[in-house]
Amino acid sequence: MEATVALIAEHFNGALSPTFFELITFANKLKIVTQAKPTIVMLGEEIEEVANKATHFNGFDVIAIEVPGLASYNPETYKAVLKSFLEELKPSFVCLVQTSTGADLAPALSVKLGAACISSVQEISSESGRITFLRSVLGGKAQAVFSAMTDITVVSIQPGCFERADTGACSGNVNVSRRAYRSLRIQDLGVRPGPGCDLLLSEAKVIISAGRGIRQKQNLALLFELAAMFSRSAVGCTRPLSDSGWLNSGSQVGLSGAIVSPDLYVACGISGAQQHIAGMQGSGFVVAINTDHYAPIFNHSDVCVVCDVIEFAPELIKAIAKYRQVT
Ligand SMILES: Cc1cc2nc3c(=O)[nH]c(=O)nc-3n(C[C@H](O)[C@H](O)[C@H](O)COP(=O)(O)OP(=O)(O)OC[C@H]3O[C@@H](n4cnc5c(N)ncnc54)[C@H](O)[C@@H]3O)c2cc1C
Repeated sequence: MEATVALIAEHFNGALSPTFFELITFANKLKIVTQAKPTIVMLGEEIEEVANKATHFNGFDVIAIEVPGLASYNPETYKAVLKSFLEELKPSFVCLVQTSTGADLAPALSVKLGAACISSVQEISSESGRITFLRSVLGGKAQAVFSAMTDITVVSIQPGCFERADTGACSGNVNVSRRAYRSLRIQDLGVRPGPGCDLLLSEAKVIISAGRGIRQKQNLALLFELAAMFSRSAVGCTRPLSDSGWLNSGSQVGLSGAIVSPDLYVACGISGAQQHIAGMQGSGFVVAINTDHYAPIFNHSDVCVVCDVIEFAPELIKAIAKYRQVT
């Protein structure tokens, strides 16, 4: 039987998640080493329209499973419906993105399918006919190489590692089916928008990133103002800030957040812990603002500003505005 790869696509409110396109890039790489045919799998309530969007420019077929009442991600429903569907499809690989949904779903699916689970994959290669997956370990100090020994492998990819690349292929087929499942243990109470982060970090060309050095949540407004001076910009942060809820977890840069590679990365009050560096070291040009001369972030920066960020950021905003007026 021809090997298949199931790509679990995330979507919300009729739109595909921007990381979906990174999954497509990964699937194309996987296809080169496995020859396996990728099929996009989507779950949701009324998803025919978004399923049609999912097949544009990649040529992969889409299987859309409509589940009445499944307005957004419900872990219990997803796991139950996908288990029975994937047992029928028998894919060699089940691939998703290591978002909060993917991080929840991947290990659970691997247990249900008796599959290996390789998470936060950053690169794929083939050595002597064996497919290997690479990911950072030890806070980015080393790379671990994994190979699965099972018939099915669940792979989650690290956001920001597989750049979007449209192949220009024609659309594939879209097959819509219906399954009934009522979650008994988890009730979906709706989705509330988080603060900030309008552009996905992996898509931003300029990232203004906040660390504990900004001291108070209200000082974030300064960094949003600075970010707004650039097109295709986003505000990122270190883990303590996302843990404390100052910004949502999608804004976190680092080992357990997003791996980013913007043209410009401005680190504001960030010490430069290895787990943070692991996420931003691919940036084109790095400016760091820190009161501590010896902050490790300066070892990874092109411009080092030893200053209080709360004093420096307004001056920088004024200087950029003035420069824009005269040019
Ligand atoms: C398994 C694991 C995974 C992790 N994953 C991540 C991850 O993905 N991303 C991440 O970021 N972290 C991650 N961490 C946490 C990481 O180890 C650090 O604790 C974190 O990055 C530190 O954040 P910070 O730089 O904001 O804070 P701090 O380390 O407290 O640094 C604050 C900095 O601000 C400077 N400062 C203070 N006041 C000012 C001021 N007024 N102006 C300018 N500078 C000032 C200080 O000199 C200091 O350098 C992880 C940790 C573990 C154990």
